[in-house]
Amino acid sequence: MRPLSANDLIRVWEIGEDQHPLDRALTLLAAAYPELEWEDLAALSVGQRDAELLTLRERICGPKLNGFAQCPQCTECLEFEVAVADLRVGTEPDEAEEERELVTDGLVLRFRLPSSRDLAAVPDCQDPAAARGLLAQRCVLRASRDGAPVAASELPAEAMAGLARRMAECDPQAEVLLDLRCPTCEHCWQALFDIVAFFWAELAAQVKRLLREVHTLARAYSWREADILAMSARRRQFYLEMIT
Ligand SMILES: [Zn+2]
Repeated sequence: MRPLSANDLIRVWEIGEDQHPLDRALTLLAAAYPELEWEDLAALSVGQRDAELLTLRERICGPKLNGFAQCPQCTECLEFEVAVADLRVGTEPDEAEEERELVTDGLVLRFRLPSSRDLAAVPDCQDPAAARGLLAQRCVLRASRDGAPVAASELPAEAMAGLARRMAECDPQAEVLLDLRCPTCEHCWQALFDIVAFFWAELAAQVKRLLREVHTLARAYSWREADILAMSARRRQFYLEMIT
């Protein structure tokens, strides 16, 4: 993973701003891993992808992360801080495309873990259970009962639910839940942590701050954008203090 410069961050933001979150995630990783092909990044399991994004996010924004959530009971908005280290769950799979097996209710399912490509193939649907079912179905390589093949589309709902659970166990980083507690009404709940949405919001804020700095310095000193961005943050900050 190579470090991203101020200029890289702006370029990633320019490209990703109009992209679907799935592509944004890969645009971020492609900037950090220029030696890898887009297809290789798309083939990472969702948990592998998110672990990489978490590392990249930590290098750019630091080890702590500040978020907001709304209490589902009293609608109070709360701010929380979480250490990136606490968002790392379990160990990642070595090989996303490795064939795995689940035996359930007399069925033998051979499957692989979902990747960005699989997520992209499942239409955005309102019902998370239906989406998980479609995703699981896509990742079934072979299914059989008593040696006779069974079509993935004909697998019973319980088997698909079991498969979705097994996939989550094999790729724990793909679904990170935050334990939250409302300070006002003391309600406790779990919220899904979406690293792509979170990181993108932070990156967009950081890029806009950078561009404002460029604007202020260019106007005061007539320096070129490239020269201002090539400075260290500390040096830019010093000049900004001189003019404000
Ligand atoms: Zn509350």
